[in-house]
Amino acid sequence: MTQDASFNPFAMARSQFDKIADLLALDQGTRDFLRSPQREYHFTIPVRMDDGQVQVFQGFRVQHNDARGPAKGGIRFHPQETIDTVRALAMWMTWKCAVADIPLGGGKGGVICDPHNLSAREQEAICRGWIRQLARNIGPVADVPAPDVMTNPQHMLWMLDEYEVLSGGHYPGAITGKPVGMGGSLGRTEATGYGVIYCLREALVELGIDPAATTASVQGFGNVAQYAIDLYHQLGGKVVCVSSWDQAEQTTFAFARPEGVDLAELRGMTDRFGGIDKGKTEAAGYTVLPGDKWIDQEVDILIPAALENQITSENVGRISAKVKIIAEGANGPTTPGADKVIAERGIFVIPDFLANAGGVTCSYFEQVQCNMNYFWEKDDVLSRLDNKMTAAYHSISRLAAKRKLYMRDAAYVVAIDRVAAGCRDRGWV
Ligand code: NAD
Repeated sequence: MTQDASFNPFAMARSQFDKIADLLALDQGTRDFLRSPQREYHFTIPVRMDDGQVQVFQGFRVQHNDARGPAKGGIRFHPQETIDTVRALAMWMTWKCAVADIPLGGGKGGVICDPHNLSAREQEAICRGWIRQLARNIGPVADVPAPDVMTNPQHMLWMLDEYEVLSGGHYPGAITGKPVGMGGSLGRTEATGYGVIYCLREALVELGIDPAATTASVQGFGNVAQYAIDLYHQLGGKVVCVSSWDQAEQTTFAFARPEGVDLAELRGMTDRFGGIDKGKTEAAGYTVLPGDKWIDQEVDILIPAALENQITSENVGRISAKVKIIAEGANGPTTPGADKVIAERGIFVIPDFLANAGGVTCSYFEQVQCNMNYFWEKDDVLSRLDNKMTAAYHSISRLAAKRKLYMRDAAYVVAIDRVAAGCRDRGWV
């Protein structure tokens, strides 16, 4: 949602789908069905604001496909939310759940609003209003929302509470991303970043590279980046450069240290949004660089883990000849133009909807634990996550090797094939 006005994420999601539909020689009916969401809900949420006036917010929920299980996907609160962004994200969730081979479909939702300018009471009213409009169309066996941009476990708990009041019972599996102790899962905080590194570890084994002999550069220092760095360091790798956001100066900057960054020290300098104070990193002995310098570091591995649209036709040429792997922690960090160049250069890509599927996989575990009303230990959650991510990685890399496909295309082939088969088996197409 930081793209310029001419960028349409749904058009991009459809064109990615069309390319793979050709590769799979999908019949016209299946193509037409999968190109569009199965269901969309557009509604208004009237909220009495703290000043006594009523303000009306626009809400959405898109259920792209539920052939393999209930729709699953986050709810964004964002002032520039558009229905086409929600449609694209819902479609990408369908493919992500299929790649991870979890029994869920794809959904996404949103409200056009800016939580920075809303009191907690106003945000609660939006959450409860969103559920009141949708309670009959979501739930543990239909569609399971979760947090996303600018929504958090507290929002999810307000939503769940409203859902349970309306449904007259406890249905903790209706929403994931809840606080631990109120139906949330241990390990969810680590899940996405660790999932990126479970995939990276497998790629390094396949490429015959010792992780302890590698270096990496990371864009972002939020949830995904911090846990990716954590596990990568545990494997013996060395992150030598990180790029992040300085809230005070309203700019990005990168900071480098050839002997490796100190994760614990950096966490101590980080605000709750993943922003870092440039002055503090400088005082700690890091070399401060312009924000986009993370991409031209002489490292073995690049991990974009901040935002979409970061590796573009303009900067892809700056990627060092030393880089062997790009592990995409963020959603959509690479534009199609840059992707073409990366494929031609033979850099091994672990595509976003495989690499960052650890988050939704752990959300699925949360739902399973809620449905059983029995909660696993953290180690248990993480070892199940490792098994799922490792299996997902290998199903894609095996296909890529067998059919000589680029990893991103192989991941799409596996995902779309599984969803198309589900639709066919149900007799829908
Ligand atoms: P976050 O808000 O915790 O962190 C984002 C980080 O990016 C922050 O450190 C911020 O300072 C930094 N940043 C912002 N703009 C930047 C810029 N221009 N250059 C460098 N750094 C910049 O977010 P997150 O949860 O870590 O998510 C990161 C990405 O991963 C997003 O694309 C998100 O959609 C994706 N993702 C997250 C999850 C999850 O479970 N958190 C799951 C799947 C995908």
